[in-house]
Amino acid sequence: MKALHQRICVYCGSNPGARPQYATAAKALGQTLAKKGIGLVYGGSGKGLMGILADSVLAEGGEAIGVITHQLKELGASHEGLTELKVVETMHERKALMAELSDGFIAMPGGIGTLEELFEALTWSQLGIHKKSCGLYNVEAYYAPLVTFLETMQAEKFFKGELSHMLAVESTPEALLDAMAHLKGASGLKWFDEEPCLHLKETIQ
Ligand code: AMP
Repeated sequence: MKALHQRICVYCGSNPGARPQYATAAKALGQTLAKKGIGLVYGGSGKGLMGILADSVLAEGGEAIGVITHQLKELGASHEGLTELKVVETMHERKALMAELSDGFIAMPGGIGTLEELFEALTWSQLGIHKKSCGLYNVEAYYAPLVTFLETMQAEKFFKGELSHMLAVESTPEALLDAMAHLKGASGLKWFDEEPCLHLKETIQ
C-alpha cells in the first residue's frame, strides 16, 4: 500500500458545468481533502469548479495552493484568497510545478484543459516518469464514455497494461482516495513489441 497522500493535484473545469451536482461534488471533494489533512494543488482559478473546490478546502481550514500563469492572473482568473498562489510564465512550467508539488492526481468533471492534464499525468505514469497515483472522480458517470474509450484503446492494443492498476475510478471522494492508496501502478513497458528500451524497463519496475 502506498503512503497516504500529503498533497493532491486536482484538475477540474474552469466552468461550473450544466448541473448543480458538479458543484456539490467539488465541495465534497474539497471538504474530504481538508478533513483528511491532504493539501490541494490546483490551477489557481477562482472560477467554475476550480474556485468552488478551493473555497471548500479553505472553508474547512485546509491548504489550497494555486499555480497560475502571469497571463491568466492578469486576465483576472486567479483566486486571491489561497494559502499560496504561485505565478509562473508558461503553461508547461505550471503543469510541471503542479506535478512536483503533489503526490497524486485527481481529475473531476471538466473540459479539454482537464483532459489534457489528466492524460499528461497518465502518460508520465506509463513512462515511469513518476509513480504517483491517478484518480478519476466520476461524478454523475460523466467519465463513463472516457472509461469505455480507454478499454477500447486497450483492446485495440494502443494501450498496454492494466488500466485498473494505473487509474482509480470512483464516484465519491472517500472511495476514490481509498482506491488511489491501493493502486498497483504501471508495470512493464508501454510497447507491445520486444524490449525496445531496457533502461526504461528498469525505471518503471
Ligand atoms: P477546462 O477543463 O477546459 O475548463 O480547463 C481546466 C483546466 O485547465 C484546469 O485544471 C486548469 O489547470 C486549466 N485552466 C483552464 N482555465 C483556467 C483558468 N481560467 N485559470 C486557471 N487555470 C485554468
